[in-house]
Amino acid sequence: MTDAYIGLGANLGDRAAHLAEALRLLGQTPGLTVTRTSLVYETEPVGGVPQDDYLNQVVALTTTLPPLALLNRLHAIEAALHRQRIVRWGPRTVDLDLLLYGDTHLETPTLTVPHPELANRRFVLVPLLEVASPALAPQVQQWLATTPDTHWLRPYTPAKDETHG
Ligand code: AMP
Repeated sequence: MTDAYIGLGANLGDRAAHLAEALRLLGQTPGLTVTRTSLVYETEPVGGVPQDDYLNQVVALTTTLPPLALLNRLHAIEAALHRQRIVRWGPRTVDLDLLLYGDTHLETPTLTVPHPELANRRFVLVPLLEVASPALAPQVQQWLATTPDTHWLRPYTPAKDETHG
């Protein structure tokens, strides 16, 4: 069994429902158990393309799937949620990133772990710290202390969002 961490993001349509559906499909995956789930955060888009704010979340899991099989499963969940990849850095129904896979360092044409942007994204590091194992937490705290990212994020409250129609 390997501890792994997945980052989820959504900024199209019913964002909270997309995250919940992705989490449900992840939990149904054979050989994978979701162990901890962070709060959902509302976050400022990164990358300069004008678009709606994101919802982001991080989950911890244990798995017997090898890294590429896990990535394939993430892609299948994205496809199931009709992800539309129209503009690079642009809006998406749901985006699933493999952040960490145990202590594995891997670089293939389709998969890099740890995720190369991990330390540059507060919208990943803040929820990751919530679900990090005691062994991982000091590293995440160090990344948070040194990240150059200044984009805002705040815990998501569905009631506030509903008032926006
Ligand atoms: P993006 O549009 O940012 O979601 O990038 C998706 C592409 O990044 C896919 O083609 C993946 O194969 C590739 N990729 C490389 N490393 C990772 C990773 N750690 N997690 C998710 N996707 C990855």
